[in-house]
Amino acid sequence: MMQNGIVKRTLAEHRRALDGGEYTSRELTRAYLDTIEQREPSVGAYLTLDAERAMQAAREADERRALGIQKGALDGIPYALKDNFCTAGLRTTSASKMLENFVPPYDATVVARLREAGAVLLGKLNMDEFAMGSTNENSALGITRNPLDPGCVTGGSSGGSAAAVAAYEAPFALGSDTGGSIRQPAAFCGVLGLKPTYGVLSRYGMIALASSLDCVGIVTHTASDCAAVLSALIGKDRLDATSRTHPDPSFEVSGELPHLRVAVVRELLEGDEVSPAVVRSCKTAVELLRAHGAEIDEVSLPSPGSALASYCVLSAAEAASNMARFDGVRYGNRKADVSDLSEFYAQNRSEGLGEEVKRRILFGSYMLTREKRAMYYDRARAARCEIRERMTEILNRYDLIINPTTPTGVFKRGEKITPEKRRRADLCAVYASLAGFPAVSVPFGRDENGMPLGLHLTAAPFREALLLRVASFFEEVGE
Ligand code: GLN
Repeated sequence: MMQNGIVKRTLAEHRRALDGGEYTSRELTRAYLDTIEQREPSVGAYLTLDAERAMQAAREADERRALGIQKGALDGIPYALKDNFCTAGLRTTSASKMLENFVPPYDATVVARLREAGAVLLGKLNMDEFAMGSTNENSALGITRNPLDPGCVTGGSSGGSAAAVAAYEAPFALGSDTGGSIRQPAAFCGVLGLKPTYGVLSRYGMIALASSLDCVGIVTHTASDCAAVLSALIGKDRLDATSRTHPDPSFEVSGELPHLRVAVVRELLEGDEVSPAVVRSCKTAVELLRAHGAEIDEVSLPSPGSALASYCVLSAAEAASNMARFDGVRYGNRKADVSDLSEFYAQNRSEGLGEEVKRRILFGSYMLTREKRAMYYDRARAARCEIRERMTEILNRYDLIINPTTPTGVFKRGEKITPEKRRRADLCAVYASLAGFPAVSVPFGRDENGMPLGLHLTAAPFREALLLRVASFFEEVGE
């Protein structure tokens, strides 16, 4: 059958096939929709499908091509979106009961840019509620299973994005990454996940979790696919005050591997929480780089404990403030028969929000109280500055920081793990988030059960091209 072959192709291959008339955008879109139909009963990546409009957009792309008009490299190519990006006329839930029926009147900037580039939106993907979580089990609206082993979680919070790409239910997907939410699920599902430099991709229309950390991220199978999507999305956006122009917007992944100076983080390869398979796989990767002429040194970062604590406090404090808008007045779950205003807010929020969201609102609000602020919030900010300074210092001397994406392999679904252990899953990814630096997770190695692991590369701001070049080296050399 046609779809089995074509859904596994890269974006460049799709582009060539569309240009050469091997298949149409309608046939390509149909192939992904058929795969979705076959795989969804066991994967469950999508919360909302938009098949009809997808076919319509594909038809328009075909008509354009027939006339020799092309909008860009992604014209006629399907994709899917984490359900925290606003899509005009299409339900956007953030996997929360609070927004179960919310239909935004506008598109997020990245969605508008992809529409402008001719890409075809297939639907919206499951996630942890309001992007709070590391397994996708915090979704209030559905269960997503790891396509490589249905007994395992996908990771989170962009679990639907990683699962959809891994299951070939979309050739690429967007998600958000606040403290690892693109990179960690990408690692657990065996795909590539990029969190660009903070500010490089506009967050306008992406439902905020923690604004000083939130980034739009990209999930693909290959580094060169990721480069193509990144190129279509960059560009300053006056609707997001943190948006920046990329000073070096060419993301060519081919060519010689440059001479590299690589820093290996000592703290992330020792300690009880890091599993032996993870250590082994990261060391193998380092040796491969050394064999290709890279200079390797061990470096030290501020302690993982302080990075995690800083991330927890800052992300919860900012989340508590961002969540205040979900009160049922303008959006979301709304109780009609309450006359008292505070009772109205309390009921709407108690019913509409899940456990983890409530826990973080309480925790974050507590961190911001007058008595606790200096003790927790201010110290968390100081720790963040120290991390950023140390990483800047390291990346002045080295091209890359390398470490595992996660301290252990993927969890089993329903595994009883403490919130503490769940948070530790973010350990290796939060440094780049706190610093605002670009980072990529590329599949490399296997855990004790044969499930994929990720290798995590961080570079100085705006060096996405280097990250993708090195990621493509690891694709070539394999595991
Ligand atoms: N897993 C992390 C958390 O629960 C990261 C979330 C994210 O990046 N959105 O906070």
